[in-house]
Amino acid sequence: METKEFKAESKRLLEMMINSIYTHKEIFLRELISNASDAMDKLYFRSMSENTGITRSDMAIRIEADKDARTLTITDNGIGMTKEELENNLGTIAKSGSLAFKTENEKVDDVNIIGQFGVGFYSAFMVAKKVTVISKAYGSDSAFLWTSEGVDGYSIEDANKDSHGTKIILEIKDNAEDENYDEFLAPYKIKSLIRKYSDYIRYPITMDVEHERLKEGTENEYEKEIVTETLNSMTPIWKKSKSELKDEEYNQFYKDKYYDHEDPIAHIHTSTEGTATYTALMYIPAKAPYDYYSKNYEKGLQLYSSGVMIMEKCGDLLPDYFSFVRGLVDSEDLSLNISREMLQHDRQLKLIAKSLEKSIRNELKKLLKNDRDRYEKFFDSFGMQLKYGIYESFGANKENLQDLLMFKSSFGSGYVTLEEYVSRMKEEQKYIYFASGSSVSRIEGLPQTELVKDKGYEILYFTDHVDEFTVQMMHDYNGKEFRSVSADDLGLESEAEKEEIKKAEEDSKELFDFMTEKLAGKVKAVKLSRRLKTHPVCITSEGMLSVEMEKVLSVMPEEQARSAKAQKILEINAEHPIFAKLKALYAADKDAVAEYADILYCQALLIEGMAIDDPVGFTNKLCEIMSK
Ligand code: ADP
Repeated sequence: METKEFKAESKRLLEMMINSIYTHKEIFLRELISNASDAMDKLYFRSMSENTGITRSDMAIRIEADKDARTLTITDNGIGMTKEELENNLGTIAKSGSLAFKTENEKVDDVNIIGQFGVGFYSAFMVAKKVTVISKAYGSDSAFLWTSEGVDGYSIEDANKDSHGTKIILEIKDNAEDENYDEFLAPYKIKSLIRKYSDYIRYPITMDVEHERLKEGTENEYEKEIVTETLNSMTPIWKKSKSELKDEEYNQFYKDKYYDHEDPIAHIHTSTEGTATYTALMYIPAKAPYDYYSKNYEKGLQLYSSGVMIMEKCGDLLPDYFSFVRGLVDSEDLSLNISREMLQHDRQLKLIAKSLEKSIRNELKKLLKNDRDRYEKFFDSFGMQLKYGIYESFGANKENLQDLLMFKSSFGSGYVTLEEYVSRMKEEQKYIYFASGSSVSRIEGLPQTELVKDKGYEILYFTDHVDEFTVQMMHDYNGKEFRSVSADDLGLESEAEKEEIKKAEEDSKELFDFMTEKLAGKVKAVKLSRRLKTHPVCITSEGMLSVEMEKVLSVMPEEQARSAKAQKILEINAEHPIFAKLKALYAADKDAVAEYADILYCQALLIEGMAIDDPVGFTNKLCEIMSK
């Protein structure tokens, strides 16, 4: 028997493993099973070139848990290891493991390192106080036994083993105050770990499980029987060909995996080869999860490397605007032992993400074209996220998303896409008009919409907070600019009409100046309206910030947002009797004009759905006038 010390860097990693406070200790099983699976792959490839007659179906991984002896044994009949290989592979840290030491210099704590790296064989020491490896290399006559109790080193001696392959015996640690190691010996836990991490290993992972069965010839006497169960399902659904799969199977997989009771709106199953080789299975859920629009929601797809799960949620695979997508990506190009940080810079991953984004986009476009009802259902759940996607990127994602947007409009109760809107614009119509408000019915009653509607132009109804911000970032759709019905210039009047209004405004300049002065601090100006037909007044705004945007910002947590104010204009309808009244009063009773100005201003605010500063004063004034 030879006793040796671990190489210095292996020793350091071992120390980390042994004293690990990492909460995901359970990954040790995934690591050992992946190693076993690799060893069988190696034997399989060798047997192909050497024609040994060994096939995949001869190979299996066996798990045994002995509660009394506190051992967990993982056996494979793969390629095995020679004495030298045992020394080199298990005595020295593997290449992949040495990555961990890069970060060591940067003083990253061990929790991080373990979390970010697949740590391979040494992870066994997170749960075992002693590890024994008995291995016989394929084609060799001798077997060897390697043991280690941790940092002190390891020993190697001759051993007996009938056939090729490797047997790893873990002596599981005793329970500690806040650590339950017993569970790693419990069949239910082992089963669930294999389901979680190693379900798609292509070799069967078997375990003898005790069952009770009715004793033959009796009616209520039971006896124990041992059944060998295969714990993994081996072929993942996404590795099957599309033609083999029915919608029901896709949907069932989704519901089981993501605990949703509703079928998804659509699934996307794609495989590509070339610059990025991967298979993806993605789903668009029917409804947003309860926490979707909160900070707690974490986007991401599950990441597999050749059937082995390496990350539960890889956020970098999805753009924020498609954060609702659920599913997984399986790529052979990604190594098991890759850190989260490295993944962020991984070129391969970026290529995959880009290609996934395109598939999702195309699927949504297809849905919009072929199944409008379903698309609208999707949009009701996640349309807001698409709009945020444009807004948050300052318009950079516009090209990707603009054709997926829909709005309610003044033309009927359904949704309209921008493409549809533009296609039915009147010939002389310059802008894409929109009006904002808290609901469709509120918007329908807005005085500002009168003239635009009267021209027969369609108006988009913006009821989401983000809508106006989104189109501001978009600026235009295929060259057609967006224009609020409250905008200063609606582009509706002819030159002659403009002149006429200008003249009327000049005629009453003194009155308007007086009212503006009385409403100082509240409005920027009082003007004659170019958009009202029957209503007396309305509020519009100048500049980038609309009244609707001010409302949205006023409830934001940031002081700066809350204090942002629209430059409001109080517009008065020249055709309305109140205007004649104001003119008459201006000559006779200026105090009354001041009072009326304030009342009209408050009315305009109420129409907009905004609060007025002094509701009691306002109602008192109205009653006073009513009692005259
Ligand atoms: P990695 O798998 O990332 O290379 P590990 O520390 O898990 O790192 O394993 C080191 C090496 O030990 C493997 O590359 C492999 O050559 C060898 N090895 C581990 N487990 C087995 C096994 N069950 N059968 C044969 N070789 C194995």
